[in-house]
Amino acid sequence: MTPTCSARDCRADAVWALQWNNPRLHPPERRKTWLACETHRDSLGDFLGARGFLRETVAFADLPQDQPEDRPDDLPEAGAD
Ligand SMILES: [Zn+2]
Repeated sequence: MTPTCSARDCRADAVWALQWNNPRLHPPERRKTWLACETHRDSLGDFLGARGFLRETVAFADLPQDQPEDRPDDLPEAGAD
């Protein structure tokens, strides 16, 4: 199965892996991963960056073999406060 972009309704192949952490929900060493195509790297990165959650963006090819866990149905802001 080819990993695809995590953006809703996007079926493009993943090119980037956005590593993020929500300090209110996750221990500091925890990394959640969203995958992004070229098109959605910026929009997903902006979403996470605006909330201070984005830790780093790496090429998907360089991602360690952890399975990406989340899709943005699990939006960090959902249920906050
Ligand atoms: Zn996409």
